[in-house]
Amino acid sequence: MDIFDKIQDKDHEEVVFCSDKTSHLKAIIAIHNTTLGPSLGGARMWMYSSTHDALEDALRLSRGMTYKAAVAGLNLGGGKAVIIGNPNMNKTEALFRSFGRYVNGLGGRYITAEDVGTSVADMEYVRMETNYVTGIDRALGGSGDPSPVTAYGVYVGIKACLNELTGKDSLEGKKIAVQGAGSVASYLIGHLAKDGAKVYVTDIFKEKVKPLVEKYHAEFIEPEAIYDVDADVFSPCALGAILNDNTIPRLKTKIVAGGANNQLADEKVHGASLLERGILYAPDYVINAGGLINVANELEGYHRERALKQAERIYDTMKKIFSIAKEKNILPHQASSHLAEERLRAIGHLKVFHNGHGTMTQNVHKRETAPH
Ligand code: NAD
Repeated sequence: MDIFDKIQDKDHEEVVFCSDKTSHLKAIIAIHNTTLGPSLGGARMWMYSSTHDALEDALRLSRGMTYKAAVAGLNLGGGKAVIIGNPNMNKTEALFRSFGRYVNGLGGRYITAEDVGTSVADMEYVRMETNYVTGIDRALGGSGDPSPVTAYGVYVGIKACLNELTGKDSLEGKKIAVQGAGSVASYLIGHLAKDGAKVYVTDIFKEKVKPLVEKYHAEFIEPEAIYDVDADVFSPCALGAILNDNTIPRLKTKIVAGGANNQLADEKVHGASLLERGILYAPDYVINAGGLINVANELEGYHRERALKQAERIYDTMKKIFSIAKEKNILPHQASSHLAEERLRAIGHLKVFHNGHGTMTQNVHKRETAPH
């Protein structure tokens, strides 16, 4: 497909190819939509097998960020950068500073952050060249590790799901099976245990589960057996694509609600199979928006309490999504796209946006289509 056709296919506003021979930088910055505000999204570093694959990823991920920010009620648009290279071998100060200069050149239309393959330390090099970067260490005035806020959002999201099915938020005596014992899962399990839930937890590294078993009386489950646990909620907090043809038929829970990204192997097919089995699914990008809410707070001067308060709204957003899904007889992830598009349309009518040069420009009215 022609590159312009590709860019126009999902209504992207701008794509920047960044190339610097001296620092060996090859990166693509994709800005999908700035109706709600400047585009924000991480910079992913990966060994893409072709420029075409890198572009595909930048276009797909930036569009996802538009929907995520819109549903989270943030005044941010969707953007993403991909840096082509091996994150274990090709990282240098020069590379990230060069990338930072490109970000700076966009004058605030794109704000970057860490992502897969990049770290807080890399973003400190980027910050030497631009202020349009978030996810900086807390000691340096940034928002630091987003996991506590993400986990809090997942916790209130689980309560919204329970409320939807039982009419009650209470976690007392509920059984929750958590996949992963990493940052998000650990904070989440703290909240669940405090509310009297019985937690089952797994991780491919057994030593990560041990402190959770000791501190919260969680029960260790072998990684492959987590799908079979007879619990109220399955909470994926590790990998993507774990809701698939093999796992969904094994689930005994009535709710799937967790922090992992891209949980459905195929959105349409597996979203529908969850519904067929009577399982309520919390769309991942809605329930895990706490991380984005956390970095967005950095733009206004970071306060953890404010970030947590905003993450608490995930409860109401989830309830709204379930009600749209019922009313329109659509899947929850389709309902969240609907909610995002409705907000984009409503604000697009009124809103003016920064064109990146300090002036305000009337926004163009855009057609929106749901993410695939
Ligand atoms: P993490 O790396 O700290 O934890 C992930 C854990 O999953 C690790 O302990 C890993 O060993 C474990 N794991 C990997 N494969 C597994 C498997 N097959 N079975 C069981 N455990 C397995 O990552 P995190 O920051 O806690 O993020 C977890 C998920 O949430 C990721 O999908 C991430 O993209 C998503 N997410 C995180 C944030 C955040 O604020 N950290 C925000 C939004 C989304």
